[in-house]
Amino acid sequence: MNKKSIKDVAVTGKRCLVRVDFNVPMKDGKITDETRINGALPTIKYLIDNGAKVILCSHKGKPHNVLTEGFGLTKKEKKAVEALPVEQQAEAKAEYLKKAIKDKEKYSLRPVATRLSELLGKEVVFATDVVGESADAAVAGLKDGDVCLLENTRFMAGEEKRDEALCKKLASYCDIYVNDAFGTAHRSHATTAAIAEYGFVDTAVCGFLIEKELAVMADALENPVRPFVAVLGGAKVADKLKVISNLLEKCDTLIIGGGMAYTFLKAKGFEVGASLVDDEQIDYCNQMMAKAKELGKKLLLPVDTVIAKSFPNPIDAEIEVSECGAEAIPADMMGLDIGSKTAELYANEVKGAKTVIWNGPMGVFENPTLAKGTIAVAKALAEAEGTTIIGGGDSAAAVTTLGFADKMTHISTGGGASLELFEGKKLPGIECLNNK
Ligand code: ADP
Ligand code: MG
Repeated sequence: MNKKSIKDVAVTGKRCLVRVDFNVPMKDGKITDETRINGALPTIKYLIDNGAKVILCSHKGKPHNVLTEGFGLTKKEKKAVEALPVEQQAEAKAEYLKKAIKDKEKYSLRPVATRLSELLGKEVVFATDVVGESADAAVAGLKDGDVCLLENTRFMAGEEKRDEALCKKLASYCDIYVNDAFGTAHRSHATTAAIAEYGFVDTAVCGFLIEKELAVMADALENPVRPFVAVLGGAKVADKLKVISNLLEKCDTLIIGGGMAYTFLKAKGFEVGASLVDDEQIDYCNQMMAKAKELGKKLLLPVDTVIAKSFPNPIDAEIEVSECGAEAIPADMMGLDIGSKTAELYANEVKGAKTVIWNGPMGVFENPTLAKGTIAVAKALAEAEGTTIIGGGDSAAAVTTLGFADKMTHISTGGGASLELFEGKKLPGIECLNNK
């Protein structure tokens, strides 16, 4: 990689502001998956061991109504209050604020500080704000090898707005900016890119997680051992269709499954019933099929599909399904998984590959009846000899739940970021760093 990492600069005695991805899932105040914390540990430990003063920051969730500098209500809530008769406004406002305060707890990074402290076996000072008195004191109190964590950066409206004053203040806390948040490397926010882009920090480098993610994925894309197979599925049809064009140029075979397959099937002129379809992308799908032909690449679409009367509710509810040809979905049915012939076809293609990238499940895998296609593909990846890379939160979850995680070469910590890499886009969180 042409970007500097923490290994390329002297960190001893230096204050390092490290943007990590601590956006961990939580339930009832407990962290339910520590993958992201673990992902950041090598960088944090290296900095501690080398006597840096470590200032960690991260966002968590989308707490748009609990901004510390603001009123505590979202724009929409404010409008709703203003629309009420004057005598009811105070009470309504108080209700929203109560909710905001509760949300603030929900979005706080304090539980992460506690857990991180256990994992590191040393104190992690927690600042209850991002750039306020608490953060000032936490940073000022750091000795070499000490660690502090600032509160959720998205409690500041300026985070997503790339506010200059916020960046300047954060820059005043550090000598070196370190980005190790691969999960937000495709975002251009104050702490993910702007702080370095504005030139407020002289030294901006990446941590080990970003370095590793890029090394594996960029290498697979640029110098793949062939045959190179890309597997795309999932539900974010519009987002994901965009990567097809770039991937077609790089890979030998592109496999389409999951929700996005039905837009292709419709583009081919098939009836897709009530399946997930993005009508605005029909032309694009036709262009992609033409592009594949032109480039001599294989573009595989389902030949059969699992269908049901409606989407399972709740998602793992028992469901009655049948199978039909991809060209014969009844008008009142929807496709919720690839069919068994397709699963076999895709699995064989994957098994023969030397490089595979996979983003997006083949069906509604959360439901055991609709998970067969995803399991077949996951199993094929586990058995493939070459490099296997998983991008995408749900694909990663599927592989992990199925017990195949340790059989994969790399499971990316950034769904959106890896997708943008596959798309051939430059990531702001990486572009902003110092060149070697
Ligand atoms: P990832 O997180 O791996 O990038 P997505 O978020 O795009 O993947 O999609 C995952 C979701 O797609 C899953 O919740 C799954 O239930 C859903 N999905 C897969 N196939 C279908 C389908 N045929 N119809 C509707 N939803 C689907
Ligand atoms: Mg997802």
